[in-house]
Amino acid sequence: MRDFICAANWKLNKSPREAVSFFKEFLPIVETSNSRSKILFFVPAIDLWVSQEVLRDTEIGFGPQNIYSKNDGAFTGENSASVSKEIGCTHALVGHSERRSLFFESDELIAEKVKTVLEQNLHPVICLGESLEERKTGKTNEVIGRQLKAALSHVDSEKKVTLAYEPVWAIGTGEVATPEMAEEAHSFLRSQMNDLKGSAFSEKTSILYGGSVKPDNCENLAKMPNIDGFLVGGASLQVESFSQICTAQY
Ligand code: PEP
Repeated sequence: MRDFICAANWKLNKSPREAVSFFKEFLPIVETSNSRSKILFFVPAIDLWVSQEVLRDTEIGFGPQNIYSKNDGAFTGENSASVSKEIGCTHALVGHSERRSLFFESDELIAEKVKTVLEQNLHPVICLGESLEERKTGKTNEVIGRQLKAALSHVDSEKKVTLAYEPVWAIGTGEVATPEMAEEAHSFLRSQMNDLKGSAFSEKTSILYGGSVKPDNCENLAKMPNIDGFLVGGASLQVESFSQICTAQY
């Protein structure tokens, strides 16, 4: 059975102090639930150290929201995969649409980042998704197919990655893809993985949905056979809403 994953993307929110107080309230709630969800936190880089202090003896994974393709050198402002690993990170988010659009990350750079993350034995959560314009002009499969092919170009089929399908028009807008729309994209991604890397890879890879996931829409989305969890922005900032998403019975 594939992992069912609930991942938080805090973006540029929460100080180290706020992160610790969130975890202290959140942990007892999820630790006493019998949910099967694996929980991850993608926190601002400045919160990684305190996150490992609180999360290291738990089942919860965590990591940075961005990582560079090189581990060290003259790359001012970037995050290193090897240092992230050294301080206990388990995962790294790669290719978020805000990185692609605001920071001009290309498919090729994202492919290099995925490679570096895997070399450091971190688990990449690779984001992909189409813009509103691309959906309206019928280009969804073309775009996510291209992003997927590039992102997996240096990935051996024995490795483990997670995908996050995040239609750009649904991120932070309150507009959520219907379960059927999300399922259509997820099953397309599954079939593309099958063609690119074989059925074992395709079957073991969890595909998360992201885009305005909330406690009141997560259960319906999770009924779809190819939706294996969520990447959650806004609703991951409050303990109440994120813990409800994590502890729902999927
Ligand atoms: C995200 O940032 O990855 C995201 C899905 O945000 P939101 O849940 O706020 O739409």
